[in-house]
Amino acid sequence: SEMTKLKWDKAPCRFCGTGCSVNVATMDNKVVATHGDINSPVNKGLNCIKGYFLSKIMYGKDRLTKPLLRMKDGKYDKNGDFTPITWDAAFDIMAEKAKKTLKEKGPTAVGMFGSGQWTVQEGYAAVKLMKAGFRTNNIDPNARHCMASAVGGFMRTFGIDEPMGCYDDFEHADAFVLWGSNMAEMHPILWTRITDRRLSAPHVKVAVLSTFEHRSFDLADNGMIFTPQTDLAILNFIANYIIKTDRVNKDFVNKHTNFRLGNTDIGYGLRPEHPLEKKAKNNSAADAGGSKPIDFDEYAKFVSTYTAEYVSELSTVPVDKLNALAELYADPKTKVTSLWTMGFNQHTRGVWANNLVYNIHLLTGKISTPGNSPFSLTGQPSACGTAREVGTFSHRLPADMVVANPKHRAIAEKIWKLPEGTIPPKPGYHAVLQTRKLKDGELNFYWVQCNNNMQAGANINEEGMPGYRNPKNFIVVSDPYPTVTAQAADLILPTAMWVEKEGVYGNAERRTQSWYQQVTAPEGAFSDLWQLVEFSKRFQIEDVWPEELLAKMPEHRGKSMFSVLYENGNVNEFPLSEIPDDRLNQESRDFGFYIQKGLFEEYAEFGRGHAHDLAPYDRYHKERGLRWPVVDGKETKWRFKEGSDPYVKPGSDYDFYGKPDGKAVIFALPYEPAAEFPDAEYDLWLSTGRVLEHWHSGSMTQRVPELYKAMPDAVVYMNPDDAKKRGLRRGDLVKLISRRGEVETRVETRGRNKPPRGLVFMPWFDASRLVNKVTLDATDPLSKETDFKKCAIKIVKA
Ligand code: SF4
Repeated sequence: SEMTKLKWDKAPCRFCGTGCSVNVATMDNKVVATHGDINSPVNKGLNCIKGYFLSKIMYGKDRLTKPLLRMKDGKYDKNGDFTPITWDAAFDIMAEKAKKTLKEKGPTAVGMFGSGQWTVQEGYAAVKLMKAGFRTNNIDPNARHCMASAVGGFMRTFGIDEPMGCYDDFEHADAFVLWGSNMAEMHPILWTRITDRRLSAPHVKVAVLSTFEHRSFDLADNGMIFTPQTDLAILNFIANYIIKTDRVNKDFVNKHTNFRLGNTDIGYGLRPEHPLEKKAKNNSAADAGGSKPIDFDEYAKFVSTYTAEYVSELSTVPVDKLNALAELYADPKTKVTSLWTMGFNQHTRGVWANNLVYNIHLLTGKISTPGNSPFSLTGQPSACGTAREVGTFSHRLPADMVVANPKHRAIAEKIWKLPEGTIPPKPGYHAVLQTRKLKDGELNFYWVQCNNNMQAGANINEEGMPGYRNPKNFIVVSDPYPTVTAQAADLILPTAMWVEKEGVYGNAERRTQSWYQQVTAPEGAFSDLWQLVEFSKRFQIEDVWPEELLAKMPEHRGKSMFSVLYENGNVNEFPLSEIPDDRLNQESRDFGFYIQKGLFEEYAEFGRGHAHDLAPYDRYHKERGLRWPVVDGKETKWRFKEGSDPYVKPGSDYDFYGKPDGKAVIFALPYEPAAEFPDAEYDLWLSTGRVLEHWHSGSMTQRVPELYKAMPDAVVYMNPDDAKKRGLRRGDLVKLISRRGEVETRVETRGRNKPPRGLVFMPWFDASRLVNKVTLDATDPLSKETDFKKCAIKIVKA
């Protein structure tokens, strides 16, 4: 029968950082169904609406199958029309442009923008290609827009990246506090676990803080709307409350923490035209640089000005609600899990916001035990696994190492079996600076994979598009679909996606998950991994390395970059025979070795013995993921705690071993006003974000009919009084206008989001209504992450 032809296999969901596992049904080389995997400890058989329609994301009518080059009269022309060409011709022109750029301007004019949706192997192959092959650190992931502030927060407070807790906290906590996170829509499966806990254990409390009311407020015992940016003050108020009510866990604080006064200079990152920028000093993004030691009394004095009355006035949250919130943290009997996403990270003081929430968990010792967890949630499926752990950032290397550290570079060069001095020491251009350097014509060969920055980046009219269209630049975009970004490129490469390739993702709780290729990609489409590695064959090592480097390892002379990066060392160690016979694996069979395993095992060398241990590759094919560090075959649930984390020194109880003295840092950091705020003309706050039905820019989910119909276009959510004041009614066509641009959409006054007076919310998934023409490109000076959550606009009838 038909059913006998169905084949089931496992894969992580393609979309969010929750990292649900799904069962995938294939038939006749097509994905025909998916359902939630009951064997997954993450989702226990459930999926959200996006997950239920995973089987359709690959079959949009406009799926790309041929490279497309802008051409006129048979030749490449920046202003020509997209014309189908062969892969050979595509790699030819890419190699020609890259070589010309290297010759004329050197490696700093070459760059790449990648993704927290790349597989681990893709991110790792890209890091090698850029940092070792082309010898440029100008590679950054779109996670810069998403998790960079969280990384900065972890590095400053703990000296090591990623959450100490895990999803098991959700079944142990007595209180949940959502800080700038609408989990009901953005992490729906985790929200079902929290809902389950709240409804089945009556003493459990849920507090939700946001700048507008959203679906997560439905479960809230204490829902709080605060004025944008005043979360910083609320966090300091809680610390002050804990101290004033004498509930500091003194034993924990004395043994396991240090206090530091942060650099409190005001600075708004990358907007040189901003008057306050002149005052900005450069903080060190990596650690506690720019701060100095203080003692507990000085810290207590610092936060003492954040009284309930002052913070209530600043934030508009009533005093009793503030006190109720603070009491959750202060009460020693209440186990608290704090959760946050972009409300904290996309913030001109995103790193500070992360530091400040750790402060209150550290003051009370509510950390690293079941239910006590400051938990940074990720947006993308492999923001942790790829962007952070592999280190596809412009300043990073795998396993939290950085290019600026000569010892770290030496470790990487040794593992890669490459000469000393291969990796350049200077951090490259991060995402926002890449956009600027493209605009200025200083970044001339640029390759974009697995993201949609002409829709996702801030202030795209002024900052994004000009760089892509600058005649000095050659822009390559790899994508399965003709996104806004692909259409801005010079060359589009058609890409295989999800189970059309084999890969590994790492989710928000340090869980590493793998999947096999289950169907072949449409003919002509190849994975990002294949594209990266195949492209490397187009270069002799002499094309990219200077003589002095070659002289150190003359055996590489006359070899291709492919040979030096991917056949050298460890990557080609595993023969094709290690792939089970019934498994597809397009890339490995093309290259002649099990490339996904080779890349993974070489990458894993970086972390083993360094608190980032991964299990052997094959084990992941048998498990529903494992949480690192995996030591002696066992995963780790709570880090930094004796008995749970194998890296904790015996007898130390807690050990924040990311810091040389094993102590976490409590930072004194102030409230700082937003970079732009409403005035007489631009009289409304604008906040942007996502919706349940669509993944990020909608390039996949907008092509699924059911999801498209469920949420067809982005509307602006408005308070009814604000609408009335402007003579607007629900459904009216309006213009959102900022100092940077405008966008047209329709008014919604009754929807799932209920903003307070003075603020509107518009999601960014809709390619036909680009809200990022309006948003401000102010960034956190430490993390370089953009604040997409607040700028000033006005709304008029269209
Ligand atoms: Fe789970 Fe996220 Fe996929 Fe929904 S989108 S099924 S919550 S991983």
